Amino acid sequence: MTIIYLITGALLFLFFVLFAITSVREKKLRATIISLLCAVITGLLWYVYFIIVSSNSLLLIVLFAAVILFLALYLLPFGKPQTIKSNPTEQRVDERDIMFAREEYEPGTAKYKAYYKMRPENKKIDDKIRKLPEILEPGGRYYESELAWYIIRLFDFNESMIAMVDGEVNPQKESLDPHATTNRIKEKTLELGADEVGIADLNPAWIYSHVGRGPETWGSAIENNHKYAIAFTLEMDYGHVEKSPYLPITEETAKQYMHGAIISIKLADYIRSLGFPARAQIAGSNYQLMLPPVAQDAGLGELGRHGYLISPRYGSRIRLGAVTTDLPLIPDKPIAFGVQDFCEKCKKCAVNCPSKAIPFGDKTTVRGIEKWQLNMEVCLMAWRVMGSDCGLCMKTCPFSHPKAFVHDIVRLGIKNSPFARTISAWGDDLFYGKKASY
Ligand code: SF4
Ligand code: SF4
Repeated sequence: MTIIYLITGALLFLFFVLFAITSVREKKLRATIISLLCAVITGLLWYVYFIIVSSNSLLLIVLFAAVILFLALYLLPFGKPQTIKSNPTEQRVDERDIMFAREEYEPGTAKYKAYYKMRPENKKIDDKIRKLPEILEPGGRYYESELAWYIIRLFDFNESMIAMVDGEVNPQKESLDPHATTNRIKEKTLELGADEVGIADLNPAWIYSHVGRGPETWGSAIENNHKYAIAFTLEMDYGHVEKSPYLPITEETAKQYMHGAIISIKLADYIRSLGFPARAQIAGSNYQLMLPPVAQDAGLGELGRHGYLISPRYGSRIRLGAVTTDLPLIPDKPIAFGVQDFCEKCKKCAVNCPSKAIPFGDKTTVRGIEKWQLNMEVCLMAWRVMGSDCGLCMKTCPFSHPKAFVHDIVRLGIKNSPFARTISAWGDDLFYGKKASY
């Protein structure tokens, strides 16, 4: 028993030392200090307890059993995590109503008049937003001329690819087995540079009803009857996200949108070469659909309190891309790995959101989907005040920690155990602080 007791103490000590090394690598001073303190305190207490009670092996067993019980409660699967209740109504979102469209309506233009005749209730807040400096333009709190210029060019490059999202389909259609084709398409998507890929049955509820942005006629009906969506994630660089809310987060966003556009355009080309229609969905005013629910259907993650998709591997630090198609494919299923339960307890994004756009309270049902509804108007106001796309919710989300053994243990606990979900939210605050400093 003595040997087992001492080995357990050594493993606990090593875990905290590893945590400290990981924290040094991640440049997290508070987590480094606390994990080193935990290593020293655990090691000392374990040893002192051993000295005091070493003559009584029953007392050693009690402490050893308490640790094993804690680990079992933390790591072993107890019950299934909550899933998102989603029964979408047929009512589709009009792209003309999304904030990125609304902020583009210039006073005095025909679009401006037509939109606010249709939605007079949005005029007051939109006019207020338009009075703020535009993102990446002088006047934003964190504006930096050089970097802003470079980021604008990245977005311009992205927009220059819009003409390539669709094209001619090879008239020689291949006869394809859906299972083999699914594997082939997933391999191709990863080979093109995506980090994760999934297939969804394309739910028409996720397709915008009318064009609100981009080169197509404003207000025209959006037609996309494809059966499937191939959705993928791109990891955002941890270092850039950590610099949120300064411009490097926006640089990283623009960069990943550009990668996403190239991947989806090339993937759509590949599918059309097999004889099937395919349409790349790229950022820069060219989406026909809402990517987060599509990616969720494709089994790539769960929607969090902050409205982003959270991936099991990369957490909130991702951007999404997609291609819609009629190529015969086998869809994936949505996944649940504890995000809904964890978000109920955590609320860190809501605490750190400078505009209070993220709700602290319960989910609401929006068009048949139970979710935390973000206030996009005040979020965009914060972006314009800062001059960047903020990203504080992404940066502070506990799921955004980079891949490392200690974080993987926590993610496993969150996936498996209600006990882990409760204490991990508290633990993240302890090690990393409740509020982000910047
Ligand atoms: S991006 Fe910033 S303002 Fe918008 S929801 Fe996230 S934290 Fe709030
Ligand atoms: S910060 Fe917390 S509450 Fe917000 S999305 Fe991440 S896990 Fe959920």
